[in-house]
Amino acid sequence: MKEELLERFLRYAAVTSQSNAKAGTVPSSPGQRRLAELLASELGKLGFQKIEISEYSVLTAFLPGNLPDNSAVPTVGWVAHLDTVDAGLSPDVHPQVIRGYQGGDICLNAEKDLWMRTAEHPEVEDYIGDDLVVTDGTSVLGADNKSAIANVMTAFTRIVKENRPHGNIYLAFVPDEEIGLCGAKKMDFSKFPVDFAYTIDCCALGEVVYQTFNAGGATISIKGVTAHPMSSKGVLVNPTLIATDFVQMMDRTATPECTEGTEGFIWVNSIVSSPARATVSIKIRDHNRAKYEEKKATIARAVEYLKTRYPRAVIELTMSDVYGNIEDALTDENRASIDMLYRALEIEGVQPKTIAMRGGTDGSYISTQGIITPNYFTGALNFHSSCEFMPLSAVEKSTQVTLALVDLIAGTKH
Ligand SMILES: [Zn+2]
Repeated sequence: MKEELLERFLRYAAVTSQSNAKAGTVPSSPGQRRLAELLASELGKLGFQKIEISEYSVLTAFLPGNLPDNSAVPTVGWVAHLDTVDAGLSPDVHPQVIRGYQGGDICLNAEKDLWMRTAEHPEVEDYIGDDLVVTDGTSVLGADNKSAIANVMTAFTRIVKENRPHGNIYLAFVPDEEIGLCGAKKMDFSKFPVDFAYTIDCCALGEVVYQTFNAGGATISIKGVTAHPMSSKGVLVNPTLIATDFVQMMDRTATPECTEGTEGFIWVNSIVSSPARATVSIKIRDHNRAKYEEKKATIARAVEYLKTRYPRAVIELTMSDVYGNIEDALTDENRASIDMLYRALEIEGVQPKTIAMRGGTDGSYISTQGIITPNYFTGALNFHSSCEFMPLSAVEKSTQVTLALVDLIAGTKH
């Protein structure tokens, strides 16, 4: 199975599909649609039905169950993202395969003298003896999320070819996860009518994520009053000072750099100002919904105070929710999705590492839409970096977990 995973990964990685936050469209880059088309044709050959690529390049497909009564078991979906992250590196990916890694530093690019040093990345030596896929040092690898695409495509190819029992299955491949889950937000859920779903995103062997941040953004726009300094007294209203007043009112211990685990934060991540205007951009994150709402209220109160203090300024606040904590969508009915995931890891002999993710996945949005979507490991490491790498045995394990989940859902394993 390793060689099929590798061959598929290399085929998908050859389609440049980096998302572009500045594009303002979904998909944000044409390569994502090309990848969706490639996958659609492969799924067609496999016998998937209802294969559709939406105007937003969301690819959905259906594999009808082959059980005597498919309605007796849950209908389950898998979601993976088509884009690779823009980490300020080359958008084109040139993967290299290291057979039987012997340990030590890895020269990624002799010409440019680019290395993966074990001093900075000791985790690579956990995979001595394994086959590794690495970058050429000029880009990310894009195992985030193409190893997941290879995983799902390999697993369902096997299921179809072996005529293995399975319930009704839906797949969704979405663009632009890396720029704010934009593709997931364009999903038409009538094309993805599942009881629950899984993403296969992020990190090392065994990792399970169903706790993510509640996430939102706020923008404060401040219009001041400009005046020449010679006649400014009592006239000038400085938007830059109003913006810094806002920052001073925030709790300096609840920032990204002062928090960890399940501690939330308010991150003032930019102030753009001129003599006439200032714009403050803020990210709000908390695993706990009530505390998240409290943080939004704190920002709103601070803005109200500034309006009273600077009545001649025009101060406007906009706030929006971006995604939610998957765990908040858990109910007694859909908890089976997580129970089965742990059972699948157990069947495959993988030690689970449950992580409260300080971020979100496509599942963080999809779960807010009523489809609980926990996440399990791809097996690849160092996402969003030129030192991203993919140990093939871990990617194979992740694929075996996918297969075990299909068996558990079909009731052929318990
Ligand atoms: Zn990802």
